[in-house]
Amino acid sequence: MPVKQSEFKSGDQLSARSILTWRIVQGAVWLVGAVILFCLLFYPSLGVLLFWNILIPVAPALLVLATGVWRNVCPLATTILLPRHFELSKRRKLSAKQLAILNLIAILALYTIVPLRHSLFNANGVATGLMIISMAGIGVTLGFFYEWKSAWCSGLCPIHPVEKLYGGNVFMSIPNAHCDKCMKCVALCPDSTPNVNPLISAKTGVQKTTALLIVGGLPGFIWGWFHVPDEAHLTSLNAFFSVYEMPLLGFTITLVIYAILSSIIQPKFERRLTSFFAAAGVSCYYWFRIPALFGYGSFSKDGSLINLRNIMPEWSFTGITIITTLFFFYWLYFRKPNRKSWLVRPQFGNKHKTFAHKLSA
Ligand code: SF4
Repeated sequence: MPVKQSEFKSGDQLSARSILTWRIVQGAVWLVGAVILFCLLFYPSLGVLLFWNILIPVAPALLVLATGVWRNVCPLATTILLPRHFELSKRRKLSAKQLAILNLIAILALYTIVPLRHSLFNANGVATGLMIISMAGIGVTLGFFYEWKSAWCSGLCPIHPVEKLYGGNVFMSIPNAHCDKCMKCVALCPDSTPNVNPLISAKTGVQKTTALLIVGGLPGFIWGWFHVPDEAHLTSLNAFFSVYEMPLLGFTITLVIYAILSSIIQPKFERRLTSFFAAAGVSCYYWFRIPALFGYGSFSKDGSLINLRNIMPEWSFTGITIITTLFFFYWLYFRKPNRKSWLVRPQFGNKHKTFAHKLSA
């Protein structure tokens, strides 16, 4: 069902004390990110462990429960929003068409980059570090031109499509610790829209394609991804790109299932179908990732954080993954939509007033 801007209430401004608290938290998380980046570049084994085997495994659960917390403290977001915070941004507004194209590129980037973990990033901290630096470079450049989160955080960031899919029924709305005033930089702001999901604003062909790719394709893509071993020393280009085969197969299977179901169900059940695929995606991730973290992965040491094979029996991890699956289906599929957005929308601002104020100052 289309959601109108007028349905959203503008929130109160953060107090100076709350802003300071958020800046401290953002600074602390940014420092953690900087340390991880430093390790990736100069102590690659440690960096890979910290980034791929600690930070990334926590992220999907955080997106499901409290997407807004991540949106407030993501170190990449903190970096790319610096031009805006320091009033160095030209603060342009993207058209709906431009934003839709950025969203489509974001999902294509996600599906292109993630399989490369098997052939490159999982074993190569420097490559991972350079990828993060490249993203930061693109994001900061966009930040010099476009208003608030429009171009990167709600546009080109490859994680954003996943945020929109998993963050459909978050625990609570928290204050927006980046946008001091809402400049309506995105037509339907994902931060401020209750129970946002990839279909909520999909009207054009590009928007519908993006929604289809993330909702239908992600669960199968994740399943396929976990059926590929890490191959750090691939010699041929063919072998290098073979890491795409299984994710692509899984992606295609669930995409087709989703497309068929979506075409036969009544429109009022569309959101439920999206929630089901979101729950399937995140459950599938932890179904494979939790055992792998503790030494019970399908491919020996791939993605292992600590080996508990001699301490905990395999069935205990089966039990844990059944519990996580039940939890995610309860949280995303069975729980009633609670009308919470990731963040509380700040008071609306007036761009022209701000410029006039600056000129007279
Ligand atoms: S809260 Fe307003 S200014 Fe901030 S990202 Fe959303 S639309 Fe843009």
